[in-house]
Amino acid sequence: MKILVLPGDGIGPEVTAEAIKVLQAVDRRRGLGIDLKEGLIGGAAIDAHGVPLPDPTLARARAADAVLMGSVGGPRWDALDRAIRPEKGLLGLRAALGLFANLRPAFLYPQLADASALKPDIVAGVDILIVRELTGGIYFGEPRGIRIRADGEREGFNTEVYCESEIRRIGRVAFDAARQRTRRLCSVDKANVLEVMVLWRDVIGALAADYPDVELSHMYVDNVAMQLVRAPRQFDVIVTGNLFGDILSDAAAMLTGSIGMLPSASLDERGKGLYEPVHGSAPDIAGHGKANPLGAILSAAMMLRYTFRRPDAAQAIEAAVGRVLDAGLRTADLLTPGREAIGTTAMGDAVCDAL
Ligand code: NAD
Repeated sequence: MKILVLPGDGIGPEVTAEAIKVLQAVDRRRGLGIDLKEGLIGGAAIDAHGVPLPDPTLARARAADAVLMGSVGGPRWDALDRAIRPEKGLLGLRAALGLFANLRPAFLYPQLADASALKPDIVAGVDILIVRELTGGIYFGEPRGIRIRADGEREGFNTEVYCESEIRRIGRVAFDAARQRTRRLCSVDKANVLEVMVLWRDVIGALAADYPDVELSHMYVDNVAMQLVRAPRQFDVIVTGNLFGDILSDAAAMLTGSIGMLPSASLDERGKGLYEPVHGSAPDIAGHGKANPLGAILSAAMMLRYTFRRPDAAQAIEAAVGRVLDAGLRTADLLTPGREAIGTTAMGDAVCDAL
């Protein structure tokens, strides 16, 4: 298992250090054979090499089976030109590796039901995986721009475009993911209004013949937005395009409470992936040793499940996180009155002990 670790900026190095500790603990018990290399990305790379994605980092990322990233960015680099800002490093890496499938689980540990913005009885048991197409759709579609009309008024325009092969490959990722879960897949579109979504529904529907063991449903995006906050437990895997996925995955994230808990994966066609917590570099708490490392640790678990096909090892980490929460251990972001917070390192140690 060749893994490139890119700690990045802010709390990135703090949380990835804990994720590595946990991976090494799993490796010792299960003999995974992990081979770790490290590289620079984002602000850290700008400081050392003047660019956010140096060539050696990209070469190591290409040679690895998976990349585990912390987070990039921070006020120190905000004044730089857009083209060499830290975030460009991450976007460049996603593009260079052809990572078209973004997987974002929204899983609520029952111990954290009171940290959600919704009532505990609505969110209890939520376990959703959103599969979002990441390299197509309206964010990349041409033509795009702002033009002057004949009457002199300015007009902005973008193009929502998907070809069959793009829909098919994200569909396959979603059907495969559903097979690793409870075998229910909901495809989200707006086929009542948009032709591109008529094609989306048609291609996803045709794929279902290859997955007779997965129950497929179709839903309009506006209804999904409502159902996510009304009765989120009805969903298992959701597959959708870039724009709808962007919005729905943030909404689903908030079902679960703290952003510090959430992992993500971006995959290419062969299952190679970039794994990172959903949160950013949290400059406000960086260096204080109080960041929640569980999003990074659960990203490592996703890596074992999706790139390395070791659901047993992934489950071991997820269960260890559950036991740590059962024991009442909380970082500051998860704190409810009457408890005392533990730091980043203590949380990582606790997960290792629980393993
Ligand atoms: P952020 O996620 O860094 O922080 C938002 C809030 O959540 C802050 O109050 C922070 O303290 C808290 N938080 C985040 N992660 C936490 C954790 N693990 N434990 C405890 N608390 C946590 O978002 P932001 O403040 O909007 O962005 C800060 C920087 O991060 C910016 O430079 C932004 O561009 C960058 N960013 C990077 C990524 C990425 O690397 N993928 C994603 C989002 C933002």
